[in-house]
Amino acid sequence: MDCIRVSQNLDDYLDGELGRIRQHAVARHLYACAACSAGFTFEVQVRQLLWQKCRDEPPEGLRDRILEALAVIDPTALPPNAFPGPLPGPFDAGRDDGLESGH
Ligand SMILES: [Zn+2]
Repeated sequence: MDCIRVSQNLDDYLDGELGRIRQHAVARHLYACAACSAGFTFEVQVRQLLWQKCRDEPPEGLRDRILEALAVIDPTALPPNAFPGPLPGPFDAGRDDGLESGH
């Protein structure tokens, strides 16, 4: 396996998606080739950064729950009949016409 092949297979190698023989060939080349092992180290560091970043982000499903919650509190995301009527204004204060007895 040459350097170009190795660099092409580096992603799959890191993901463990190469076959056993290719996986072994890449590993052997990385062991023997300083240039490729430097590239491999860089690739691993990039992935470690990504993994760390991913761990800082909300867990799976939390983003959807947040978006759902936002949709609930955002009136534009609600159907027009979501509220039974306009909220009582100041002119309703002290009104005593019996409309409240329905509750
Ligand atoms: Zn190489």
